[in-house]
Amino acid sequence: MASLCGRTIFQLTRRTFSTATVLSAKKSLPDPIDLSTGLEKQEILSRQAGNDDPFMMKALKRAAGTKDAPNLVPSAFESRMIGCVCEEDSTHIVWMWLHEGQPRRCECGHWFKIQRKQPVPVPEKFMD
Ligand SMILES: [Zn+2]
Repeated sequence: MASLCGRTIFQLTRRTFSTATVLSAKKSLPDPIDLSTGLEKQEILSRQAGNDDPFMMKALKRAAGTKDAPNLVPSAFESRMIGCVCEEDSTHIVWMWLHEGQPRRCECGHWFKIQRKQPVPVPEKFMD
């Protein structure tokens, strides 16, 4: 009796599982440039034009960084916050503000100076 009940329960709880493969016409997603707007679109257009860092966000390798030849930090503004990883194995970043025309020395001894760059063109609809 127990085996009969067990078999019945097993048959009742067993579910059928079927799959079907749907062959449809070749569909593709729309081009991302058609879906993007505003600054995202400008970023995509800049990348297509060959500028892979339009907002100057990539980490820079430090040069000698002396007072006479400071590390040049690109900026589209008069001031920019920068972070210096003073030692190669350091686990923290020393953050500081850098202002145009005022080279600044990090506590590790490297000098930094702002180098003005043209900003990414802003789409007309954001100009209002
Ligand atoms: Zn430093």
